[in-house]
Amino acid sequence: MSATPHPVNRQPPHLGRVLHARDVVETEDGVHLCGAQCAQCATRIFPAATVCPACNSENMQPLPLANEGTLYAFSTVHVAPAAWETPYTIGYVDLPEGVRVFGKVEGAAQLAPDARVAVRIEPAAVAPASAASAASGGPRWQYWFAPR
Ligand SMILES: [Zn+2]
Repeated sequence: MSATPHPVNRQPPHLGRVLHARDVVETEDGVHLCGAQCAQCATRIFPAATVCPACNSENMQPLPLANEGTLYAFSTVHVAPAAWETPYTIGYVDLPEGVRVFGKVEGAAQLAPDARVAVRIEPAAVAPASAASAASGGPRWQYWFAPR
């Protein structure tokens, strides 16, 4: 079986990470990242997958995630491909649901380990990477983290 190229995340990281519509959920209190929880062993992941990475169960349920978390670690990138705008900062954020999410982090001067950060989500202004991803429908989103 050959791997299918992932149609998202073709955008340089300094512009934010682009998501498929299925990785985002809209609730009464706004737009949230949506991971998945295994109904068999309770493993939680983001982005969602159809098979649990811990127990191989195919019973994965949608898991809306909080829009605030704690910065676990971060690094500022100064050397990147020519088309990418540097410097930019990337990091891992621990969300209250027990999921660690990777992404761009703004406000490098204010960052420190354990800093509280907000998850910012907005529609991505990028063209679909392929006809297949365009056919899957729904808005494309991008997210990043910013100090609270
Ligand atoms: Zn599982």
